[in-house]
Amino acid sequence: MANKWDSVVGTQEYNENHARITKIAEKNGYMLNPDQERVQKVVGLMTMNHNEFGKYYCPCKQSHPLNPKKDILCPCPPLADEVQNDGQCFCKLFFRESERERK
Ligand code: SF4
Repeated sequence: MANKWDSVVGTQEYNENHARITKIAEKNGYMLNPDQERVQKVVGLMTMNHNEFGKYYCPCKQSHPLNPKKDILCPCPPLADEVQNDGQCFCKLFFRESERERK
């Protein structure tokens, strides 16, 4: 069965969000999850939230149904702590840049 986010992967909205996420990773010295399917899922669901609500709500920390007054946007405030403590954010989208750490 097709995933529900498949409908947005490759659209302009998806590509814009992916570019935005990539910039956030570069700016903070992170990398994206090398698992492309995971990236497509998280970025895809986030893009669907943006298409519907106009903001990049985190798809892993959101309420169901999404609550625009309460739910948090990506990047979320605890991102740096999560990457530092766990090596990745809660959604497994941003990862610690392991190459840099070895230097
Ligand atoms: S856990 Fe935070 S940084 Fe990771 S995708 Fe969700 S909002 Fe973004």
